[in-house]
Order: sequence, then C-alpha cells, then structure tokens
Amino acid sequence: MSIPAVADREATHEYHEYVGVYDHYVGDPCYVIPNDRWSEFCEKLFACETYEKYGGGVVHWEVNGKTHQIGVQSSPGGDGTWSFDMQDDEGNDIELCVDAGLLADVPMECVCPKADVSDSGAVFHDEPSLETFEQDGGIVELNGQRNKEYLENLCEECGNHDFHLEFCEATGSDVCWMCWQEEDEEE
Ligand SMILES: [Zn+2]
Repeated sequence: MSIPAVADREATHEYHEYVGVYDHYVGDPCYVIPNDRWSEFCEKLFACETYEKYGGGVVHWEVNGKTHQIGVQSSPGGDGTWSFDMQDDEGNDIELCVDAGLLADVPMECVCPKADVSDSGAVFHDEPSLETFEQDGGIVELNGQRNKEYLENLCEECGNHDFHLEFCEATGSDVCWMCWQEEDEEE
C-alpha cells in the first residue's frame, strides 16, 4: 500500500448528479467540460483527423480512469442559440446555446459536476443523433428534426428554405422569390 500521488488523487472527479438519470448531454461542450481541462479538450479536438476538414471529430475523453467518446461538430455560423420545436427527456423546450462555436454529444459521465445542463443544452436517456449543415444559413438536425429557424422559413409552394419569404396574393401563401407570382390582372 502506498499513498497515491497528488496527481492521481486529483484525477478522480465527482460525477454530475444526472449520471444514472440521463446518459447524454447535447450542447456546446464548453458549458460542461471542466474549466481546468478545457485547453486539453481543445487540443484533443484539434488533433482529430477530421477537424481540419469538418471542424469536428471524436474526442477520446478520460474521466475517472474510463475513456469516453465525445462527438463534436462545429456549430454552423458560430455562436448563438439553436431552438427546436421539441422537448428533451427532462421535458424542457430544447434550446442549444453556443459559446465556443461547437455542438457535441457528451456522455453524462464527462459532464462537470457543477455544470448547469438544463440552461445550456438538452439531456437524453438514449444516444441522440446530431447533425450540422452549413447550407441555408446553417442547419442543426437533432433526433431527425431541424432547428426552428430553418423550419419556420420554408417556402409554402416549393418547400425550399429562404430567409426572405414574402406573402403572395396570387397563391395566398408565404413564398420564396422563385415562386412569387404577379396577381392576375382584372379584366
Ligand atoms: Zn418557393
């Protein structure tokens, strides 16, 4: 028996109270990775083979002697908030805040004990699907559903995304410029 070195003792962290309740956190990892390990997290992310091309990758992250995988993607357009017309497993309307330009699926065991997960992201029992796309001003697809800003700006005629929909008298709907029609002139 020997007394563990200081470094070994510090490597043991408490878990977040949600461990055992929820298995996944989705949001910007900067809210849930401990501050004193943030630079280590970024180094591992930047070292991912996929990072240069896609701005993301899988970070192998050790907590309490166990290695977890954190899937990280870049948040299209950088920082802001992604809203969804659905709730997480805690029953909260989903709003993903982004402050480090990233979105990730973080196993709950990796979430810092002090992190306020409900304010910054969403929690799930099952592994969520998370995809991001740069097109159309940026799209985030969570569990198969796209963010509100995308869904609320679709042309009612062709279904294409457009941030500048206009109401068209001729069709009686909000349409993109491609679908906009002049009203028939009265005889
Ligand atoms: Zn259209």
